Amino acid sequence: MHEMSLAMSAIDLVVEEAARQGFAKVTGVWLEVGRFSCVEADTIAFCFEAAARGTAAEGAALHFEHKAAEAWCYDCARTVTLEERGQPCPHCGGFKLRVAQGDSLRVTNIEVA
Ligand SMILES: [Zn+2]
Repeated sequence: MHEMSLAMSAIDLVVEEAARQGFAKVTGVWLEVGRFSCVEADTIAFCFEAAARGTAAEGAALHFEHKAAEAWCYDCARTVTLEERGQPCPHCGGFKLRVAQGDSLRVTNIEVA
């Protein structure tokens, strides 16, 4: 399952970071989820809990931050922000877009004790 491997690598990172800072327990984790990502927050939360079991991150509270997607507009020759999949360039209304970012899932912050 895609979400499970994402959750497990997130846990690895979190546990490693907590250990590096000399903390034994992770109490909160902030995850940034791209708006266009295919991952479901509920599924991630479930996988995260399972993957965290027996680690320093067991029982940590999950916080999701949804991030708008970025795309390159060929007509404007600049990076634009998209709120919806399939929407035109917010500047010129064109569709010559290459989505550069938005399918991400990454740990942005942790709270340790
Ligand atoms: Zn444009």
